[in-house]
Formats: sequence, C-alpha cells, structure tokens
Amino acid sequence: MRPNRAKTEYVVWHCSATPPSQDIGSAQIDIMHKAKGWDGIGYHFVIRYDGRVEPGEALKSRGAHVKGLNSVSVGVCMIGGVDEQGKSVNNFTDKQWQAARHVYEFLKLLYPDASNIGHRDLSPDSDGDGRVQRHEFLKDCPCYSVAQWEENNLKPVSDLYAQWEKDATVEVPDEEITFEEVLEDDYEED
Ligand SMILES: [Zn+2]
Repeated sequence: MRPNRAKTEYVVWHCSATPPSQDIGSAQIDIMHKAKGWDGIGYHFVIRYDGRVEPGEALKSRGAHVKGLNSVSVGVCMIGGVDEQGKSVNNFTDKQWQAARHVYEFLKLLYPDASNIGHRDLSPDSDGDGRVQRHEFLKDCPCYSVAQWEENNLKPVSDLYAQWEKDATVEVPDEEITFEEVLEDDYEED
C-alpha cells in the first residue's frame, strides 16, 4: 500500500509512449512496470484507445509518475503518443479525448485548485527566463499541449506542440527537485 497524499496541487498528464499496435491498459502497464522491478503502475488513471478509463493507483494515494511531485499530484496516462517507429506523435483517439475531458472535470471537482500540466512542462527552464518552452522539453510526454487543450475548452487538440508553445508561460513549481530526474522515466519514486 502506498501512503496517502497530503494535498493535490497538480494533475500531471502523461502518455504511455507505446505504438497503436499495442492496445494496452492499466493491467498491462502494471505488468510492464513490475517486470522492470518497479512497484507497479504509478499512474492513478489510464485512458485507453477505446475511451475506457481504467484505475491504477488508489486515487487518494501517492503515485509514482513524476519524481519530486508524487506527494502533491495525480497522474493520468493516455495510451499512445508514438508511432510504430517510436516517434512522438499526437495520435490519441476521439474517444480518448472525450474520456480525458471527463477525467479532467472529475478531478477538477475533487481538486479545484490543482493545476493541470503535461509531464514535459516540468522540463528544466534551462535558459532561466522563468518559462519552460518547447526548445527546453527533455521529452514530449504527453505529446500534446495541456495548456492548449485547456484553452480549447477540452476539445481535442491535434498538434504535438501548440503553435504558440514556444512563447507559452508555464508556472515552474518551486520544489527542491532536480528537473533532469523528473523526466528520466514516468515511473519515479521520490
Ligand atoms: Zn510522462
């Protein structure tokens, strides 16, 4: 059993970075993570290609999906995000976008003050201008812009990056964490 979270400041959106030929869900991710010697799935929700939302970690518990912020965040994983060659692509289905909106709204009711961010938005602000921009992303997860999605009233967004993302402002959490570590892998114990 994982300990409970004390608070919830972020909802962090991820993708599984698996190709469309792998129609996987929560159980498979749990198995894959355990095969790597990890403790389990790490995410709280998984959104499958067909729009099914599957539970992972208990919602009140601390997940393992973003080092340094697990004690204050919920992790949601959209299946997909790469093509068959492993290249980053925004290839989520309409059913997934529909389900993502439901999950977003559900979590907004439970945690009205939590900010929704993409995993990549936690990349280091390497040029130190107070913003995490596209050229600073260490990885593409979740392979779409969460800010653009919110701006679009949670209707599907098709870009891998937002057109304006190079100028986007993302609030950088002022936690004592090494941002390089945050992006090492989706499964991250603190
Ligand atoms: Zn991620």
